[in-house]
Amino acid sequence: MTARGRRYQQGMRVPAIARWTGEAPLPMRVTRRWLAGLGGEGLGYEGELPTDRHRGLLWERVAEAEGEGRVQIGLVHGPRQRRAMNHRLCQVCFARAAPAGEPLLFLVAGTRPITTGDRLTSPPIHAECAEDAVRDCPDLADVYSAALVQRASSWGVAGLAYQPATLKPRPSRHRTGLTLLPYYAPAADLRWILAVREAVTVHGCTPVRLEDLASEPQTAGGRLSPDPPPRLRGGWRVPAPPHRHRCRRPRPAGC
Ligand SMILES: [Zn+2]
Repeated sequence: MTARGRRYQQGMRVPAIARWTGEAPLPMRVTRRWLAGLGGEGLGYEGELPTDRHRGLLWERVAEAEGEGRVQIGLVHGPRQRRAMNHRLCQVCFARAAPAGEPLLFLVAGTRPITTGDRLTSPPIHAECAEDAVRDCPDLADVYSAALVQRASSWGVAGLAYQPATLKPRPSRHRTGLTLLPYYAPAADLRWILAVREAVTVHGCTPVRLEDLASEPQTAGGRLSPDPPPRLRGGWRVPAPPHRHRCRRPRPAGC
């Protein structure tokens, strides 16, 4: 995994996990097939390749053509998102998100603080890259929550849960339209998921304000410890509630 050079489009910094127009999902026909590793019939592709599966689960097949065409801010390239999660890479620059033993910074849209046990599909991020993300990403522009996390564990996937009888996706109650499924779910459920995101669960979370994090390139910020609190610019401070942020740029079309 190598860090990306900084890419900008219309003045906005382009995250490494963003999808480009040259990376549209490939037209694939789903079918039923015997999945020996999962002990029964499940979802597969016609002309399926070994690379279509990760940990035995079927993944959406998308082209790998980063930098081709226009970036689609707000759309995520699934395989790069998965690599960022599994290798603890910054979602913006694709460099290691924090040195071994150091806490990881996570950033999500919305008012709800990140707490232990949360399942996240947004990969970790550097403090300095997070500043660019909240400036440029429409989803984070109004309000976001950030936390330093002691440990992020592999948990499962977010994807489309197919109905065996119809080979159509079930409706999801989640606003993303995706269904979260842990790797420890019954095989009967794992066989019928089409994964599009990797999900981790986080432990040892301390809410932080981005403007309080020390600006240390290639690290998430200070060392995390419940007592004393994380090292922040200007000394030791108590964790902060979710932060409301005024976007300094107009919301771009198509995001
Ligand atoms: Zn970064």
